[in-house]
Amino acid sequence: MKGENTFQCPYCGVGCGLYTNKGEVPLDDEVISSDLKVRGLKNHPANKGLICLKGVTLPITWKKNRLDSPLYRKNKNEAFKRISWEEAYEIITDKLSKLSSEEIYFYISGQLLTEESYVINKFAKGLLKTNNIDANSRLCMASAVVAYKMAFGSDGPPCSYDDIEDADVFLFVGSNAAVAHPVLFNRIQRVKNPNKVLITIDPIESETAKKSHLHIRINAGTDTVLLNAVLYLLYKSGRIDKEFINLYTEGFEQAIEEAKKYPPSLAAKICGVKERDIELLAYLFASAKKLISFWSMGLNQSLNGVMKNLALINLHLATGRLGEKGCPFSLTGQPNAMGGREVGYLTNGLPGYRDVRIEEERRDIEQLWGVNGINNIPGPTITEAIDLILDEKIKLLWVVGTNPAITLPELGKVWKALEKVFLVVNEAYSDADTLKFANIVFPAQIVPEKEGIMTGSDRTITFIHSQIEPPPNTKPDWLIFTEVAQRMGAKDLFPYTDRKEIFEEFKKTTKGRLCDISTFEEKDLPKRWGRRWLYQTENGWKFKTPSGKAKFYAATFDIADIDKNLLKEEGFEATLKEDEFILINGRLKNHWHTMTKTGKVDILLKQELPPFAIIHPKDADKLNIDEWDLIEISDGENSIVRVAIFGKIQRRHIWTYFGYPLWYSETSTNLLYKDRVDPYSKEPDLKFRKVKVKLHKKVKLEEY
Ligand code: SF4
Repeated sequence: MKGENTFQCPYCGVGCGLYTNKGEVPLDDEVISSDLKVRGLKNHPANKGLICLKGVTLPITWKKNRLDSPLYRKNKNEAFKRISWEEAYEIITDKLSKLSSEEIYFYISGQLLTEESYVINKFAKGLLKTNNIDANSRLCMASAVVAYKMAFGSDGPPCSYDDIEDADVFLFVGSNAAVAHPVLFNRIQRVKNPNKVLITIDPIESETAKKSHLHIRINAGTDTVLLNAVLYLLYKSGRIDKEFINLYTEGFEQAIEEAKKYPPSLAAKICGVKERDIELLAYLFASAKKLISFWSMGLNQSLNGVMKNLALINLHLATGRLGEKGCPFSLTGQPNAMGGREVGYLTNGLPGYRDVRIEEERRDIEQLWGVNGINNIPGPTITEAIDLILDEKIKLLWVVGTNPAITLPELGKVWKALEKVFLVVNEAYSDADTLKFANIVFPAQIVPEKEGIMTGSDRTITFIHSQIEPPPNTKPDWLIFTEVAQRMGAKDLFPYTDRKEIFEEFKKTTKGRLCDISTFEEKDLPKRWGRRWLYQTENGWKFKTPSGKAKFYAATFDIADIDKNLLKEEGFEATLKEDEFILINGRLKNHWHTMTKTGKVDILLKQELPPFAIIHPKDADKLNIDEWDLIEISDGENSIVRVAIFGKIQRRHIWTYFGYPLWYSETSTNLLYKDRVDPYSKEPDLKFRKVKVKLHKKVKLEEY
């Protein structure tokens, strides 16, 4: 079905096609009470009619606590005043005109439409000539992007959802897909193959692990070691694809030299896993008919994130698994992180998978935009920008469609920076935490009030038809930036009166590029760009690296000293004191990120426990903690309070949800994480923090 009543789900990166009963399509089962109902679109390539509860309950989120006027306050201890759009535009253009480009910073979102990310990126890089723009993909996909680029010369995912149905082995590494990407996981569960095997590598028995045939309960942070050990075994037993390696790759020797440092007996100790599980992984990589590895934040959000990614990609290269024999498949967290990559919305990107550091690519875009002097130095990332705000080098921060007051690491520092900076926020909801720090608020529209395109994890672009009237006095983000630019005298650069004009302009930037959509028409969507197996040609495999070959890397396990001490052969238990734990975190099935939308839906709230943390019962026992007690988790500076729930988690690890907003839990998880980042991707490590745990208050289940 293609038509006016279809759109893409604005939650996770699965990118499900949905439809409403706005048109004539009958929707009979009553899951929620709402005049407007949402269901999964049967012929959408991502979900084939499937939908999760978050998608079904979307209509409940559309009207509650919506902003309906621009707001302003000079001082943050004053209440907001409602002002007109014209007054708001005057304030922002006046502010922008008084600052240098490098004093302005944009922090945008993988939840925006592609057209919106394109316009904001153009506003920063084309109009202001600053690369001071980053997106919340920095917290999510940056490590996968860098690793893909290092290995394949481009970060286009090599395969697609079409590869699922004939695969027999599904490996989940640092991914709780059953919760974070439920429709994708459901699709895998439906694969009818008697030889199907699901394996999950995760420190905690997640929903995905529970539904897998094997759970390899690994010590947090040690994936690189485990994956190197698998490569070592494959090499030692000669179960590698020599022809593929010789013809289509380079660097195999370096990867093997590194892998040899981790024979399974040693790796098993470091990782806290069984040797035979490493052997089983090697056996499956060697013998599966088709093996797909899915991963997400467990690999990406790490000081060693890029290396973890490369260690996994090495296994696929070594066994020639990039197409019909399987592939590595990073799952994007957000609905349009892929579209953001296409428009180049991170600090170094330009539209059409281009990079500001490459002169020819800069010139292409300067010509298309009709500008000169695009800055050739990547801007600071968002965590670096927070420091620059505190140093008074960045004076205006413009946040669009994201909630950094909860999601950035080291929140104590972030809150100080948000207090200090002149903060502009484009936001749809009046209760989003970041608004507490704002000076100007622009009331924005959401999907599916506005129309435009988004790209899901497997490169499929879906057109979003507008389904509902937006609240009065709100605007789509592309229009807000267009109108500001026009008031700054840049009507020639931002002549848009309609979103479609931006779509057409963006298409031109992709012509001849890997993500070429120059011939795509809206009526053709949903449609995937690139070949099914992106790097396959009529004459074998050709990658976007200078040599045309895919690259192996030595996947080193060299991380900051504090962590190395914990990751010695003796294991965590021998190194940590009795009240010391490693804090890890993850997703909840019924909430999305900081709950700005899902927290408005009773049926979703009722599915989840109050803010909780999962601890191993034997570790809890030593600290006199019973299930349902309140516990305090502290890093010495800050602490959070959670309900203790017992679970199958690696000893001396403790798990909680990353996105509890302040109205829901009072203490945010990211108070405890530092802004330490991977050296290549600058993605923060949000998955490994040494903390202390103690009893906060004895509570019985009946008291909840
Ligand atoms: Fe939306 Fe993700 Fe659920 Fe699909 S799986 S309906 S994209 S939240």
